[in-house]
Amino acid sequence: MQHKFSHYTCSLCGAAYGPEEVTYTCPKDGGNLDVILNYDAIKAQFTPKKFMDLPEASLWRYLNLLPVTDPGGIGTPLRRAGWTPVYKSQRLAQKLGLQDLWIKDESPNPTASFKDRASAIVVARAAEIGAEVTVAASTGNAGAALAGMAAAVGAKAVIFAPKTAPPAKIAQLIVFGAKVLLVDGNYDQAFDLSIAATEAFGWYNRNTGFNPFTAEGKKTAGFEIWEQVIRRLPENGKNLTVFIPVGDGNIISGVHKGFKDLHALGWLPQVPRIIGVQSTGSAAIANAFHRGDEDIQAVQADTLADSISVDLPRDGVRAVRAARETGGTYLTVPDEAILAAIAELGRVGIFAEPAASTAYAGLVRAVEEDLVAPDDPVLVLNTGSGLKDVKAAMQAVSAAPIIEPSLEAVKKVIE
Ligand SMILES: *Cc1c(COP(=O)(O)O)cnc(C)c1O
Ligand SMILES: [Zn+2]
Repeated sequence: MQHKFSHYTCSLCGAAYGPEEVTYTCPKDGGNLDVILNYDAIKAQFTPKKFMDLPEASLWRYLNLLPVTDPGGIGTPLRRAGWTPVYKSQRLAQKLGLQDLWIKDESPNPTASFKDRASAIVVARAAEIGAEVTVAASTGNAGAALAGMAAAVGAKAVIFAPKTAPPAKIAQLIVFGAKVLLVDGNYDQAFDLSIAATEAFGWYNRNTGFNPFTAEGKKTAGFEIWEQVIRRLPENGKNLTVFIPVGDGNIISGVHKGFKDLHALGWLPQVPRIIGVQSTGSAAIANAFHRGDEDIQAVQADTLADSISVDLPRDGVRAVRAARETGGTYLTVPDEAILAAIAELGRVGIFAEPAASTAYAGLVRAVEEDLVAPDDPVLVLNTGSGLKDVKAAMQAVSAAPIIEPSLEAVKKVIE
């Protein structure tokens, strides 16, 4: 089989593996594997200009920088993942005393979260290697994304999710026709069970921080930030700072990988500063970062931001490095700040689920702590739609009055 990448390297021990040699993590130490592209071949064939103004308004515009072959699926939701909008919010910028603030909104993805990027690439990979069934453990969004992307091309998916996942996410799983198994346990238990089932039944596993192709999908957000924002920054030498919410650490690692790919190709001189934001109640990666090591120790996760509620993050080491290697940092924010951020974003027309608003809550914190200067250009990643979890949304705002159907009643409330 012809592969579109050169090899894998282990993020822990540095061992290199050929494309056929491994499937998931490093056989020696369980480290996450980086997919290494043929940078010289790409450089010889392409220039950044060739990627600009491409007609494909999805992550598939970057097919030549991805480790998979074209999966087809033209005209289906698979071809609509990615290429999400960036909004420039003057009002939020003003409020925070910043000059340039962008919000990259992932809610227009086909299943309404960032996870479609990873699932689109894994579905393409599954087709390439002839896998019949793809399985994922998920707090909800990764599963919904796999179920949706698989449904788009008529592939089979099995999803393990905690039975406590928000109902909207569970509804998505079932509606997309996946085999859904609701685990009477937490995400970490669903994760371990899905791996045991993968081995027992010979399935292909998409798990976050386990399958090396998820980060390859997520890196496309880094490519888009480069095209949509970085290449248009004023040339005052100010580097972009990017705020990313962190649970398992695969989004932050993936976006960092995207920047590193572009840097390796010589197309991005300066990698943006990356700031990871975790919930105070689920902060294993932030803890390791601030201890100054890469030893990710499990916590007992307790946060209403279900998509970033993780005891033992599966991509913690690379997530720590994403901040460390770019001059960034990690911040933690309590659930109250996460809810307040939902309300703030709502006032500029963006509806975020709690895990997604966590990044904005981190920016508020960073401004308070002078971690960003007024003239630092800033981008916040809004990773998922508020429609995913309306119960949390209603906790972020005050309830609407219920009135009699009379003008009198309206008058009373309006005055
Ligand atoms: C999965 C997810 C995250 C966190 O991504 P990790 O790779 O687990 O760090 C953040 N926000 C939303 C909406 C998600 O679904
Ligand atoms: Zn290794």
